[in-house]
Amino acid sequence: MLSISELKSLLATPQHIVITTHHKPDGDAMGSSLGLYAYLIQKGHHVKVITPTDYPYFLHWLPNNSDVIIYTDHKEQSEALVAEASLIFCLDFNTLSRINELGEVIRGADGYKIMIDHHLEPEDFDDYRHWNINACAAAQLVYDFIVNELEDPETMNKDIATCLYTGIMTDSGSFRFPSANAEVYRIGADLIDYGAEHWRIHQLVYDNATENRLRFLGHCLTNKLEILREFNTAIITVTAEELKHYQIVTGDTEGIVNYALSINGIKLAAFIIERSDKVKLSLRSTGDFPANEICKKYFSGGGHRNAAGGVSEKSLTETISYFKSILPEYKTQLLQ
Ligand code: 5GP
Ligand code: MN
Repeated sequence: MLSISELKSLLATPQHIVITTHHKPDGDAMGSSLGLYAYLIQKGHHVKVITPTDYPYFLHWLPNNSDVIIYTDHKEQSEALVAEASLIFCLDFNTLSRINELGEVIRGADGYKIMIDHHLEPEDFDDYRHWNINACAAAQLVYDFIVNELEDPETMNKDIATCLYTGIMTDSGSFRFPSANAEVYRIGADLIDYGAEHWRIHQLVYDNATENRLRFLGHCLTNKLEILREFNTAIITVTAEELKHYQIVTGDTEGIVNYALSINGIKLAAFIIERSDKVKLSLRSTGDFPANEICKKYFSGGGHRNAAGGVSEKSLTETISYFKSILPEYKTQLLQ
């Protein structure tokens, strides 16, 4: 274990640092990682962000995006960087299985591992932990880490603020989920003071769709949405063929599940998608309904109570039937 004072003294001289985040990084994963990156390079460290996979095009505008290394494209280089790192920051995930093959590379590395995360049930692989499940985003915890743990608000700059604002905005549903409390709004205001252009960030993330993406969304809503009123559940399912037809790329399917949840009375929404190697599920729920419990128990996954995900080794059709067969167990909660 590493104490905050030991960490501070390590960070007082230039270090070789790797920052990594979860499989198929989202706005919080990239925002928190590049926010911490912008901070650490400002302090004179040698830093690389390594992502386990690619990530959505609507995040490619983030400051310093060109410095990100994608593990699957650059395995040797990534492994060399991990091996020489004295500090490895793990952001927005807490089990090494969430970063695929890279997980075992990091487990075996000599560098101190620092977890900054807001998910339930962390695995014990880290040397220092800044973890809080009440945080709305890992980016909120990075802000807290820099300002309160490292006591270094003076180093905040526009790039850091822009990235952290992006993480908080995307993971809090644009400051609208219950996790977006008054403190989160205060942090948002601070980030705007530090230079984050909130209107521009929103536009770059949410008003940046391709024509295909919008037509695909129309297809999902018109033809692929199934509403199970007896369980207050809505499901959208997508085949690999449809993904190909609409030329869907990483990021295009993000957020579609929320449309299903926006229907009056719907408590649970599922987006079930046939990927090349497996079927992926994205679940969203309202109120106390534990979407993460279903993902953990039945789909080797997890997440937050209202936003969770998992996978299935079954075919798409079998996965859909399997998912529906689980609903009676939750009927009372779904109809509350
Ligand atoms: P999404 O539905 O956007 O892919 O994921 C929503 C949330 O569920 C993520 O922020 C993450 O916390 C969690 N999640 C998604 N997929 C998985 C998975 O395969 N395993 C685990 N443990 N969590 C997941
Ligand atoms: Mn997050």
